[in-house]
Amino acid sequence: MSDRDPDCLFCKIAAGDIPSDRVYEDDAVIAFRDIHPQAPTHVLVVPRRHVPDVDTLADDDAGLLSALFAAVRRVAELEGLAKGYRVVTNVGAESGQSVFHLHLHLLGGRRMRWPPG
Ligand code: AMP
Repeated sequence: MSDRDPDCLFCKIAAGDIPSDRVYEDDAVIAFRDIHPQAPTHVLVVPRRHVPDVDTLADDDAGLLSALFAAVRRVAELEGLAKGYRVVTNVGAESGQSVFHLHLHLLGGRRMRWPPG
C-alpha cells in the first residue's frame, strides 16, 4: 500500500494540506485535537503512513505500534493526565469508525465510564 491515500482526510492533515491543532509530531506519528472532543483532552494519535485500521496492520508493523504508543505516553504527559486516560481505536463501521486511517483516541481530563456505548 502507498504511504499516502490522496482521498484520505488524515493523510491530508498529516501532509499539512488541511489544518489541525497539532499537539505532537515525530517522523512516524502526528497527534492533533479531535474536532468534536468527547472529553477535556481528546487527541487523535495517527501514523503518517496510510493504514486503514488495526485489521490491516502487517505482522512487521511492531515498530509503528511502538511509535504510536510512545506518542500516546508523550501526549498524556504534555496534557497532564497523570490521574489516567483512555486509549480507544475503532475498527470498521459497526464499531463507529468514521475515518478509515488508523488512529488512537486519547481521552482524559474526566472520569471515564464503562462499558462504553
Ligand atoms: P472514528 O469515528 O473512530 O473514525 O474517529 C474519527 C474522529 O475524527 C472523530 O472523533 C471526529 O470527530 C474526528 N475528526 C473528523 N474530522 C476531523 C478534523 N478535520 N480534525 C480533527 N478531528 C476530526
